[in-house]
Amino acid sequence: MNSKKPMKKIVSCLFLAMSVTACGAGGGSNIDDSSEGQQSQEAQPARWKKLPIEYKIASTVPTLYHEEIHAGFQAWNQAAGKSIFIFGGIKNLQEDELAPDYTVNQNVVLTTDRSGVASTGADASTVSGPLARTFLYGLSEIHDADIYLFEFNRNFVEGRSDTGDVYSIKSVVMHEAGHMLFGPEHSQDVESIMTAVLYPKGHPQEKLELGLLDIAQLRSVYAHDLL
Ligand SMILES: [Zn+2]
Repeated sequence: MNSKKPMKKIVSCLFLAMSVTACGAGGGSNIDDSSEGQQSQEAQPARWKKLPIEYKIASTVPTLYHEEIHAGFQAWNQAAGKSIFIFGGIKNLQEDELAPDYTVNQNVVLTTDRSGVASTGADASTVSGPLARTFLYGLSEIHDADIYLFEFNRNFVEGRSDTGDVYSIKSVVMHEAGHMLFGPEHSQDVESIMTAVLYPKGHPQEKLELGLLDIAQLRSVYAHDLL
């Protein structure tokens, strides 16, 4: 393998948990820990050199949830009209190997019961940690992206003890896959899957599909690849 020079790493933020109970469009906490270090200037549009992107699922993810993870990537494939994400199999990892630097160039989806708050770049003022985070390698050209789903059991299976909220794995993976495609930025468009805040299952603003702008961005950034 070629040991390249160290690639720049961007920790892309992830989705924030919204602790709203059911209904209403209550004020959401919009937390974003977009990147390590300064990234205040115009971020360059990031993209992969070529498609498709192969992703793997860590062996620590229960099989029961693989389907939902695939569904998150499939949403983008459908929007593209072709397979831009391809499943590359299971990545064998032990629980104690869940480290962002461990899976470089393999694009692994990992679940952990650890909190995202402890991770680099988290906003200290947030009550709840992020639901997930994508660790991207590469700046203008993305080489690798590992997706962490934090506090998995609490956020995605049993629900939060404070609100009872359960979040959709599919929609979180759709969001994270968007970071894989486009880098760490979030969208201000409320219909976009790339807004910084995610609403739980059953909330009127739960995102079930990609937004029109998401699809437009895909077709724009990857126009040549989608011909
Ligand atoms: Zn995000």
